[in-house]
Amino acid sequence: MSSSEQLFLESQRRIPGGVNSPVRAFGAVGGSPVFIASAEGAHVTSAEGRDYIDYIGSWGPAILGHAHPKVVAAVTEAATRGLSYGAPTELELRFAEAVSERYPSIELMRCVSSGTEATMSALRVARGFTGRSAIVKFDGAYHGHADCLLVKAGSGAATFGHPNSAGVPPAMVQHTLTAPYNDVPALEALFAEHGAQIAAVIVEPVAGNMGCVPPVPGFLEAIIRLCREQGAVSIFDEVMTGCRLAPGGAQERYGLSPDMTCLGKIVGGGMPLAVYGGRREILEQVAPLGPVYQAGTLSGNPIAVSAGLATLSALEPALYAQLEAYAARLEAGLAEAAARAERAVRVQRVGSMLTVFFRSEPVCSWAEAASCDTSAFARWFQALREGGVLWPPSQFEAAFVSAAHTEQDLERTLEVAAEAFSA
Ligand SMILES: *Cc1c(COP(=O)(O)O)cnc(C)c1O
Repeated sequence: MSSSEQLFLESQRRIPGGVNSPVRAFGAVGGSPVFIASAEGAHVTSAEGRDYIDYIGSWGPAILGHAHPKVVAAVTEAATRGLSYGAPTELELRFAEAVSERYPSIELMRCVSSGTEATMSALRVARGFTGRSAIVKFDGAYHGHADCLLVKAGSGAATFGHPNSAGVPPAMVQHTLTAPYNDVPALEALFAEHGAQIAAVIVEPVAGNMGCVPPVPGFLEAIIRLCREQGAVSIFDEVMTGCRLAPGGAQERYGLSPDMTCLGKIVGGGMPLAVYGGRREILEQVAPLGPVYQAGTLSGNPIAVSAGLATLSALEPALYAQLEAYAARLEAGLAEAAARAERAVRVQRVGSMLTVFFRSEPVCSWAEAASCDTSAFARWFQALREGGVLWPPSQFEAAFVSAAHTEQDLERTLEVAAEAFSA
């Protein structure tokens, strides 16, 4: 059996940086990444056979825990009926019904294969619908790696110090306006100056990609109101928050109804599946009904949709109360342990997503997140890892509690975290 270190060395010969997505490379915390051999419940097992309590959760999808028996059964059963047809199925219909049941704002929707595709397509549709070009995104928010969105893009990009990617011609981002997260006056000023050109505002309703940053009261409401007043489309990018903060995501939690919504991660139950959808008249712009082109060979793939359906049906309302309680306990325990060790740390949490910021004041924006002590975070991360706890390897990410985490897992995590704060 090869060790993670050896696999990492070999992978670097064939795969850029040895990984298929940058944050996996541990660039922000040092050392070689943990190569995973298998996962079950809230635990992952590394290539060398070491067990870790996992808070990465595949970066969000694993809300039920890894290898949930119902999801595995649905996928295996579906596979025996063929892997892909390139023709519509009843599964896609049932999946769309299950999504709109939880998201009343989604009247019509399309399945795509990644969150990146969902946001990219949603923006195209919003531009087609409004006949306008400009879009607004917030500093530190990440909406996937479409060219026009790689501006001030948080976590992965921020972690690696290239907030604006090479390979993106200036013309691709000339219509992308940015404003600080949680700053209503700045957004009002953008609309005052460019209102007639703005097709859409896209927002993470709870930011997760600069670490967990909740919206200040009135911020999301202002986005929806300004869009409505000025004929722009409000887009909630709920790829991370969707089905995590409530069955109906952040929009259910905060009682809001955006024009469009993007989902991913949890809705695919660990398979490549994402969704964009929203108001009927907007989605009617999409081909073959309307003039906006968007397509996909593997869109609505039967295996992925089966995993999604099984996940949605296993996510009973009672589970959210448990997630909330466990995550609250983790939040309180981490804050207490940091205080005992006299560390300047702020724990921020919404539902089952949370971040331990190495800074004493609250974090409301990218500028504030960026002022954290990232080397203190890196040392804390490594101590957790040595103690058998796998935390997301960047200061600018959210950790996820799953329904499979047990009280024992939490207690063990808090013990290791307390030692790590004192180290
Ligand atoms: C993960 C994420 C995306 C991108 O999804 P991929 O499936 O990685 O392309 C987009 N938006 C948000 C808010 C995300 O967290």
